[in-house]
Amino acid sequence: MKNTVKIHLTLYGLLIILLIITTAFIIDLNKKLDYLKIITIDEKNGNSLKIMAGKKISTRTILLTPQMIDTFNKYKSPFNDNFTFDELIKKYINNKYTDHYGVKRGSAKCRRIHEGIDLFVPRKTPIYPLTDYGIVTEVSNNEKYLVKVECKKPDGSIEIKNIEYGKTIRILYPEGIESIYTHLDSVFVELNQVVNGNTKVGLTGLTGNIKNSGKASHLHLELRDLNNKSFDPRHKLRFNKPSIQYFLDKLDIE
Ligand SMILES: [Zn+2]
Repeated sequence: MKNTVKIHLTLYGLLIILLIITTAFIIDLNKKLDYLKIITIDEKNGNSLKIMAGKKISTRTILLTPQMIDTFNKYKSPFNDNFTFDELIKKYINNKYTDHYGVKRGSAKCRRIHEGIDLFVPRKTPIYPLTDYGIVTEVSNNEKYLVKVECKKPDGSIEIKNIEYGKTIRILYPEGIESIYTHLDSVFVELNQVVNGNTKVGLTGLTGNIKNSGKASHLHLELRDLNNKSFDPRHKLRFNKPSIQYFLDKLDIE
């Protein structure tokens, strides 16, 4: 009898200890879950960005799903016509001495380069972001909008010049690359707007410094890296400094 009571008491004691440990574990786990943020694709809502979050957030933990990361690297044509950059260049560039990236611009007083590629499509062709996710980081509906561009003087010094780009949209992609579309006819997006591959962001046009240059309407497309340096869109595949962090900072997750 005495022994049975002892065994029972010991068992109850162990059970209570186990219960306390389990409760503490669950409380801790709940706390961790509250700090968790998951960024993924919302397929039900037109493949838009979906952020799932805990209730109380003080430390930010972000999980990117493999599906989301996979989508980061799928760049496509701004015209949603399924062409790669190489194909776009072959199909839409008119003149290899004036329309390519890196060709000379400006005068001998201050020499600059063509910071993008010119894609000749009919005026008012709809344009879209280059990947399935993007954030509008700059936008202007001003036909004479100016963008700062570097040029080199004969003595080798660098000067910053304002170049009339006209109506402009700049979009940041998760990898940290930004695209700039200029000479637009119309813009349909706002600053900080989250866009996806199917968001019609604007229409190609003839605004900015090409208006009186005799050039036909076209899309001037630039790609810029984290340091705001342009690079040849043909070399997109060689771009090796992805920064998802930069994108996440811009997302402004609370
Ligand atoms: Zn151009």
